[in-house]
Amino acid sequence: MTSVAERPETRAYQHFIDGRWVDAASGERFDRISPYDGRVVASYPNGGVEDAQRAILAARKAFDESKWPTSPAKDRARILQKAAELLLANMDELATSIASEVGKPKNMAIAEVAGAAEVFELFAAKALDLRGESVTQQIPDAIGLVVHEPVGVVGIITPWNFPLLLISWKIGPAIAAGCTMVAKPSHYTPGSTLILARILGEAGLPAGVFNVVTSETENGAVVGQHIAASELVDKVAFTGSTASGKAVMRAAANNVKKLSLELGGKSPNIVFPDAPIDAAVAGAFFGIYLNSGQVCQAGSRLLVSNRVKDEFVTKLAGMGAALKMGDPLDPATTMGPVINETQLKKIEGYLEAGKREAKLVTGGARATGGDLAKGLFVQPTIFDEVANTATIAREEIFGPVLSVLSFDDVEDVIRTANDTMYGLAAAVWTRDIDVALKVAKGLRAGTVWVNAYHGAGLYNMPYGGYKQSGLGRELGSHGLDEYMETKAIHIKLS
Ligand code: NAD
Repeated sequence: MTSVAERPETRAYQHFIDGRWVDAASGERFDRISPYDGRVVASYPNGGVEDAQRAILAARKAFDESKWPTSPAKDRARILQKAAELLLANMDELATSIASEVGKPKNMAIAEVAGAAEVFELFAAKALDLRGESVTQQIPDAIGLVVHEPVGVVGIITPWNFPLLLISWKIGPAIAAGCTMVAKPSHYTPGSTLILARILGEAGLPAGVFNVVTSETENGAVVGQHIAASELVDKVAFTGSTASGKAVMRAAANNVKKLSLELGGKSPNIVFPDAPIDAAVAGAFFGIYLNSGQVCQAGSRLLVSNRVKDEFVTKLAGMGAALKMGDPLDPATTMGPVINETQLKKIEGYLEAGKREAKLVTGGARATGGDLAKGLFVQPTIFDEVANTATIAREEIFGPVLSVLSFDDVEDVIRTANDTMYGLAAAVWTRDIDVALKVAKGLRAGTVWVNAYHGAGLYNMPYGGYKQSGLGRELGSHGLDEYMETKAIHIKLS
């Protein structure tokens, strides 16, 4: 593990296009600044439309002119399996890049790398089991075949909060299916995507199959829009905010491309009075403060039964002292800074709104003690007595800010939980299986956890949102389907 004293060198990266490392056509570059101490972590080419077009053409050529889309499934499975092994072998380099750019504690970055390796392994297995259907018993003199084929060139646009894990959810199925790709990572966190490009090459992925273009703020949207609108791109897999997702959707209409969108959330975490209270308190804590609250599925609306709410909030507030804010590369750190100045200002605005709208229990300001003053830290915050109509109950804050609401009965809580434009995830804590299933069925959300938050140890489950939290599903067979076209072949027997 990198100690605080052994800071990694600033790295200068290049684009990865058609199997080669290249600079931006303009020759321009930009720096990524650490949200912890403002030092330059890495520098990247500031790509524009010309670079995006080169990458799209490389991916198009690899799809249309190479044997990659029809390569034996076992070859693609081997590449995925090898990539999983290489991700683990390059753990320290990847985790250091993620921790330095995102600001998340390195232990969590290590877990992210391990998670991405697991996803590659999973899709290696899926690649070996691709199959279609046959229709043989409808009429005597015809047979139907339903076959699946790779969708084509996939544009991949990703956010900064889990830069390696979320791109693995897209690259894994794209390789399993035989697609080619153009990726545009967030300009805050491109490092792990470019390291992954190197790893995929080492794993045997042919040139042109995976291409990466980086670009700074304004160009981030410009390059993203170019990919989303391009007639040479067949599908876009996007993860980011709902507002950017809508812009991608509009651009994708240009050639009616396939779309999968993983967008924002305001997820309800529901606690009934018979819940295992200490586990539920720990789950609520983890649910909101993981990655400094910068998680799409964060349990940012805590709905607790009136019968236990005061006890619950007191216990939850007491846990805050256990968090150690500090240097992401220090193994003792459990909570890092937020991603950038803009996000910090946005969170501070919500803290002020919360003070007007609700009762502040703990936190409520930027954290500036000692070394924290040089970074972008926010105190873990809890607001109680929040109405579901309040700004802090309706808008995605994307910071360590929890809104606590209360309820009386099952119908009441389902109604309140569903009263949101989002539908990404939810959790329910109770020992009563009837209540758990009634709530799980009643919630309009793509994922529901029972007596857990952020997962119950299962993998290979479909992931995605209802309502304005997204379109399509990632992971598992449902995730693989998004990278395939379906063709019906009707055979007349003479
Ligand atoms: P963002 O929408 O600002 O950016 C995401 C990506 O889209 C970046 O690469 C960015 O450069 C690009 N982009 C921005 N505007 C674009 C445009 N007009 N056209 C094309 N591309 C554009 O999001 P962010 O701040 O990086 O990430 C945080 C958001 O992502 C939150 O809303 C969070 O909920 C969401 N998120 C969702 C999931 C999920 O699985 N549902 C996972 C992680 C994050």
